[in-house]
Amino acid sequence: MLTDDLFSLVMDVKLTSCSICPWQWEEVSGYDENMNTIRTYQVCNVFDNNQNNWVRTKYISRRGAQRIHVEMKFSVRDCSSIPSVPGSCKETFNLYYYETDSDTANKVSPAWMENPWIKVDTIAADESFSQVDLGVRVMKINTEVRSFGPVSRQGFYLAFQDYGGCMSLIAVRIFYRKCPRVVLNGAVFPETLSGAESTSLVAARGVCVPNGEEVDVPIKLYCNGDGEWMVPIGRCMCKAGHEAVENGTVCRACGSGFFKSSQGDHLCLQCPINSRTTNEGATNCVCRNGYYRSDSDPPQIPCTTIPSAPQSVISIVNETSLRLEWSTPRDGGGREDVVYNIICKSCGGGRGGCTRCGDNVQFIPRQLGLTETSVHISDLLAHTQYTFEIQAVNGVSDQSPYSPHYSSVNITTNQAAPSAVSIMHQVSRTPDSITLSWSQPDQPNGLILDYELQYYDKVKSWNSSVVRSQTNTAVIRGLKPGAIYVFQVRARTVAGFGRFSGKMYFQTMTEEEYKSSFQEKLPLIIGSAAAGVVLIIAVVVLVIVCNRRSSERTESEYTDKVQHYTSGHMSPGMKIYIDPFTYEDPNEAVREFAKEIDTSCVKIEQVIGAGEFGEVCSGNLRLPGKREILVAIKTLKVGYTERQRRDFLSEASIMGQFDHPNIIHLEGVVTKSAPVMIITEFMENGSLDSFLRQNDGQFTVIQLVGMLRGIAAGMKYLNDMNYVHRDLAARNILVNSNLVCKVSDFGLSRFLEEDTSDPTYTSALGGKIPIRWTAPEAIQYRKFTSSSDGWSYGIVMWEVMSYGERPYWDMSNQDVINAIEQDYRLPPPMDCPSALHQLMLDCWQKDRNNRPKFSQIVNNLDKMIRNPNSLKAMTPLSSSVHLPLLDRSTPDFSSFSTVDEWLDAIRMGQYKENFANEEFTSFDVVSQMTTEDIIRVGVTLAGHQKKILNSVQSMRAQMNQITSVEGISDSNNMTSTLNGVDGKSCRLQYSSIDFMDVK
Ligand code: AMP
Repeated sequence: MLTDDLFSLVMDVKLTSCSICPWQWEEVSGYDENMNTIRTYQVCNVFDNNQNNWVRTKYISRRGAQRIHVEMKFSVRDCSSIPSVPGSCKETFNLYYYETDSDTANKVSPAWMENPWIKVDTIAADESFSQVDLGVRVMKINTEVRSFGPVSRQGFYLAFQDYGGCMSLIAVRIFYRKCPRVVLNGAVFPETLSGAESTSLVAARGVCVPNGEEVDVPIKLYCNGDGEWMVPIGRCMCKAGHEAVENGTVCRACGSGFFKSSQGDHLCLQCPINSRTTNEGATNCVCRNGYYRSDSDPPQIPCTTIPSAPQSVISIVNETSLRLEWSTPRDGGGREDVVYNIICKSCGGGRGGCTRCGDNVQFIPRQLGLTETSVHISDLLAHTQYTFEIQAVNGVSDQSPYSPHYSSVNITTNQAAPSAVSIMHQVSRTPDSITLSWSQPDQPNGLILDYELQYYDKVKSWNSSVVRSQTNTAVIRGLKPGAIYVFQVRARTVAGFGRFSGKMYFQTMTEEEYKSSFQEKLPLIIGSAAAGVVLIIAVVVLVIVCNRRSSERTESEYTDKVQHYTSGHMSPGMKIYIDPFTYEDPNEAVREFAKEIDTSCVKIEQVIGAGEFGEVCSGNLRLPGKREILVAIKTLKVGYTERQRRDFLSEASIMGQFDHPNIIHLEGVVTKSAPVMIITEFMENGSLDSFLRQNDGQFTVIQLVGMLRGIAAGMKYLNDMNYVHRDLAARNILVNSNLVCKVSDFGLSRFLEEDTSDPTYTSALGGKIPIRWTAPEAIQYRKFTSSSDGWSYGIVMWEVMSYGERPYWDMSNQDVINAIEQDYRLPPPMDCPSALHQLMLDCWQKDRNNRPKFSQIVNNLDKMIRNPNSLKAMTPLSSSVHLPLLDRSTPDFSSFSTVDEWLDAIRMGQYKENFANEEFTSFDVVSQMTTEDIIRVGVTLAGHQKKILNSVQSMRAQMNQITSVEGISDSNNMTSTLNGVDGKSCRLQYSSIDFMDVK
């Protein structure tokens, strides 16, 4: 407890007496109990009645105190010791106070009476005195303390009232109480005055000592009426890097070589081994060079380092498998968590260096993070040199800038026979034959020379036969109708035969089945015979059917969905495409050809398009142990039917069989969780048609030919795989950021369904066909072959060279069919080199056998790229070409009423305002425009300048022609001239000029 004196009354300091009182308090000298001389204020009028004698202190300033304490030392004469004292004698006096903001009191004011004065108490002596010794009065001194409050004015006076006693006032001390500044529980509390009442508690907020921090709640103490601190709440603790010293009153920074990692009362710790501090007050110790701490290592354990290499590696090779064993590293780096990774590199291979092994090599129990010191590796290639690195890694290896230490071992695998073929499919069957195909063994272990197919009638297992095939397909003839045969196949390499596949059972058709299947197809064939030619084919087919036992199957017997399997022209062991719909359970095809991806590896970012079955999104794929890649994700919309799911996934089963830089690459599928997804490589520039439209006129001819070359190379690969695309079009080509074009869209479903909501695909003979892109024989009698893909390729060439123009513009599908039938062909797009247009025309040969093969197209385009001069020659506008042409690339200006309409038609509508500003608003003026004029109106792109100039020149030519024709005839005559070619073609919206050219 602390007190502060406000006023101390020593009796030589004058008090002010009341001037109107009956008697006065007198200032007198006397002795205390110890015979010391003291001065007192006395009053002693016990013999007179009605005493009322007041005396008052000077003005006392309050100084913030709310409760004032008064300690009085006084003596009182015992009334009974005074002879013949009247009954009015008193042994008490009264204490008063009066509050005011300034020292304004005088002899009469405040009035000497209770109210205005406020009475504190009547003070009685504990001891009164009665004797006078040796003539000297010896007083008994009493001490009494009283307090009052709350006080709120600037100051106050005290007054003492005697009302008939005999007493001396020896000393008065006036003070207030306060709690002192204190450092407690890690915080400093300021000096705090007590409250107004003796029971008051005044709250004080503490401030943590420097480098201390409050724990949980704000820290507080309460100051009570006696000036004592009580009820501490909360506390402060030294923060990380500092420890409490000097009884918790100071937080001192940890010294060099010491650290403290967290707030608390504990002391700084010495740095663990291999670590040090860089300054005082360290919260952790940094590891010395070459030593590290893993994320989960606590700061008090030593820093550790990477392990040394595994020791004593032993390798045991068994054909194409290998067992590796090793012992633990000499130095684990100071850690117990050493594991091993195996890096597999195959070396030699004719290219000198080593390359990482592919995904197909198997590691048991696993490749990375091995806790044991051995691993079994299988599915290596036969006769191949490998280097295996056994890395030792521990919890800090990923922090080290250095690669892990490893021991390596070189091995060469032995010769090994191919692994077994896992799946065989029936492609087709008749009463006396079955056509089978099978997948190549997962581990060919060398070049497959051929396959051996062993089979026997199920009921005559002792009588087996063997056929050989150089491809993975074979036709087995001479079988009994309706009999079940058991088949097994094995592959042969220079190392000999592999194991036979499991037994698979297939049954030939019965005669009845065969007849009814043929009858089912008959209406289809006849239905397509709008042209007499097809009828003849049907008759031919009939004849063939009658002679079926002795003749080859005809192509028309293949169902729509089954791709053709031919043998003979393929190189030995060459993989061919297997139609997923030949699987009894199409899910099996998905499992075989598409890798299942866990949905947690896929992150969908945004929707980029709409596919046939749901949204197409872009996103990221992070497969375990591989870096994250950008991917496109096709999703199957919710509420799909089982059939939609099967059709959706069939695209993945097809795509998964291909591996070529110009074929879109399948990463895998998600089928085990919703939504079902197909994940492919991401093609930044989207589909080719819209990409070209967005970049009209922006590429060099060589760039365009480069794109076409890529598409042709992809198609050659598909052709070699015996796959017929059937929907080759620029919309189904995707372009990546390097302008590499890849063939995509292997969905089959649109050909199978009747829905004709998309006008691109016209329903024909039970399937939808993209008329403008499809060869006539495929439209007429569904003869889809790689030659019909060749026709479509010619259309893609035209789309590319015209920057995404719609083939045959706005002609109806029927008109396109008719025009093609009459040998009309698309004209060269603007600025199209003649060589390229010639190649297009070759692709559009009526006789499919005369169309170039994709290998020839690739060679042809390669030659053009090597010799760009061959691309200089252009087909002149409106030239008289031997083939009848449709020419819509420079539309007939006379069918437009304004220059704006004409600009729209040539897809240069963005320059309407430029033309108007320079007053090129009539065809007369526009037809005279020069290159300079075109630049002047603000056409800066070279491609656009050319396009406008060509259209202007064409307009000029058309104008001249109209003038000359008008001199001879009228336009009705021109139309009737065309009618002479074919009455039906009047319906084509050709311009009169086109017809003139055609004629
Ligand atoms: P599709 O269902 O294959 O016709 O895809 C619909 C649209 O999604 C296409 O026209 C492209 O714009 C886009 N798309 C499809 N696959 C990819 C891909 N791999 N990369 C980028 N965009 C794609």
